[in-house]
Amino acid sequence: MPKKLRIRVCYLLAAVLLITLPTLVRRRDAVTVAAEGYIKWVDFDVTAEVMRAALKYDLESYEASRTDDTVKHAPFVTLIALAATKYGGDFSRCKASDIQTFAERLMAGEAPEDIAASSKTFPYFLEAYEAALGGFVGNYAVQTDAGLSKRYGLKVFSPIAAGYSYSDYDDFGAARSYGYRRPHLGHDMMGSVGTPIIAVESGYVEACGWNQYGGWRIGIRSFDGKRYYYYAHLRKDHPYNDIYEGKIVTAGEVIGYLGMTGYSAKENVNNIDTPHLHFGVQLIFDSSQKDGWNQIWLDLWEYTRFLQNVRSAVYYDKESGEFYPKNPILDLDIPD
Ligand SMILES: [Zn+2]
Repeated sequence: MPKKLRIRVCYLLAAVLLITLPTLVRRRDAVTVAAEGYIKWVDFDVTAEVMRAALKYDLESYEASRTDDTVKHAPFVTLIALAATKYGGDFSRCKASDIQTFAERLMAGEAPEDIAASSKTFPYFLEAYEAALGGFVGNYAVQTDAGLSKRYGLKVFSPIAAGYSYSDYDDFGAARSYGYRRPHLGHDMMGSVGTPIIAVESGYVEACGWNQYGGWRIGIRSFDGKRYYYYAHLRKDHPYNDIYEGKIVTAGEVIGYLGMTGYSAKENVNNIDTPHLHFGVQLIFDSSQKDGWNQIWLDLWEYTRFLQNVRSAVYYDKESGEFYPKNPILDLDIPD
């Protein structure tokens, strides 16, 4: 082979390798993490359409299984993990009809492991999606005229209260430059200052107060410890509604108010141009992932689309100057 051609072939091979390597490494991670003890990375790209289908079949099969012993429950996360396994974590080709097929097989009594397209990757996807979405569906109660009424269903909410508009776009990973250049690890929801901010899932308040980047912010950890919800740039002077570290909050509660604080080492400064909520969800499989270089944050574009009509209705209480949920729920999965 002439030298020039050899060099060209080398360049070509190098280019192909450079292009495919990240994908190879990522997929390899997905399969080998279990052997290393805990999950190191999750690509969260499940679509709103798939989540809606999985919720529909979870609820339908749950109801059917209560009245008919031959029907088995097809859980939300299991359905999503089966779809992820089929498409190698790439949901762009997954349809609601895939979810229906998985649901019918689960309801007929087949074990998820027997339905899964790969016995190697299914445990990874099940654990990954259990961590990401494990708090979405479960047991709760609502107060009715007849007393406390137990329910089973979706028990998470959009972070923006009912009746308040917001705008957003797919901004995950976009560049930003305050402090140091770093990718955007959350989802911005542009709205009016004072819009009540809702706890998406129940949990413990792990952090509140001023943060140079997030301004007035709140961090809430799910009861199973796997999810850390981050709500930032809250309102100047009056950011919170009775929030303190260690407090237990319930999904649907008003935790604070939208604002434009942050990007300042000095407290209570409005240095954000456009009022918005920065909403983030971090996955934690091991305590080393909380603050280190190996943090896992979810892409919340499809996630917030799924929740855009799942809003907590609120009312204003003149005496306290705060907003409260009109129909508070009681989370029945709170640990003792
Ligand atoms: Zn943001």
